[in-house]
Amino acid sequence: MYDIAIVGAGPAGLSAAIYAQRAGKKTVLFEAYTYGGQIINTPKIENYPGIKDISGFDYATGLFDQALSFGAEIVFEQVTAVNKSDRFVITTTAGTYEAQAVIIATGAKNRHLGLEKEEALTGRGISYCATCDGAFFKGKNVAVNGGGNTAIEDATFLSGYCSKVYVIHRREGFRAEEGSLQALREKDNVEFVLNATITDLVGEDKLSAVVVTDKLSGQKSEIAVDGLFIAIGQVPDNAVFSEIAELDQSGYVLSGEDCTTKTPGLFTAGDCRTKHVRQLVTAASDGAVAALAACTYIDKL
Ligand code: NAP
Repeated sequence: MYDIAIVGAGPAGLSAAIYAQRAGKKTVLFEAYTYGGQIINTPKIENYPGIKDISGFDYATGLFDQALSFGAEIVFEQVTAVNKSDRFVITTTAGTYEAQAVIIATGAKNRHLGLEKEEALTGRGISYCATCDGAFFKGKNVAVNGGGNTAIEDATFLSGYCSKVYVIHRREGFRAEEGSLQALREKDNVEFVLNATITDLVGEDKLSAVVVTDKLSGQKSEIAVDGLFIAIGQVPDNAVFSEIAELDQSGYVLSGEDCTTKTPGLFTAGDCRTKHVRQLVTAASDGAVAALAACTYIDKL
């Protein structure tokens, strides 16, 4: 029996664990894959207050060690159900656990293009993580799809050792910060393909080209590439909580800045909840808010 169970060991979940343990609550984190969430794939973080720059992996590892050093437990099992009676029962792929309060901190997963060969060619030229898989494409031609900070960071990273990097984006304007975009524009081996969407993938055993359709002219063209890095944002993964938490149309847990949900004792933190700014600092801050709210809830039981 735990005081607080946290689903997800990304920045929000790990921050919540630090606050919960320091408040004297017996805390467990459930994580299906590895600690750190998506930040683990970010080569360099430069906008976390108080840290000039750090890799996502080092940041996540430090946060993980910190949470464990305060006594939080981590269980590497996938949560398949959360039910509430007089307490919460958390079912995983390997067992059941009980807790007085639960924090959903499941983050989000990579959005897919939804193209026919996308799944089949994943790991055969298609990747969602440039820092994980970029090294396989040394000296080759690759494309990055997307116009946000992740896409621009990925393209910058890949331009360091790929022959050519195409940045394919569906419109003229970018969501990415202007500074990093400007630096990328100055690279000789980077070409921007704008107002273009990828409408087909070419290759049987491995990717050999992408077909792009110009949004303005409707014209299709083929770009020969060995690799395609898809960086078109994230989608939440909250279906398992749909009974005990209200989800919005996109699947995010409906919540305000107090991190509460429709079920007393159930809180949510980080990218998995409805919010305007999804940043590392807001995920960490949500973790603190949700953990302290869970402590107050338990103390009043
Ligand atoms: P994002 O900001 O949501 O950008 C997603 C990009 O993909 C957008 O340019 C979007 O185009 C495009 N897109 C979405 N769906 C598409 C589709 N079906 N087909 C083609 N293109 C599509 O996602 P992100 O870059 O992963 O960033 C997520 C959050 O993390 C953001 O808040 C970002 O600032 C933050 N982040 C921060 C840092 C940093 O501060 N160092 C690094 C990485 C990420 P439109 O623009 O046309 O909608």
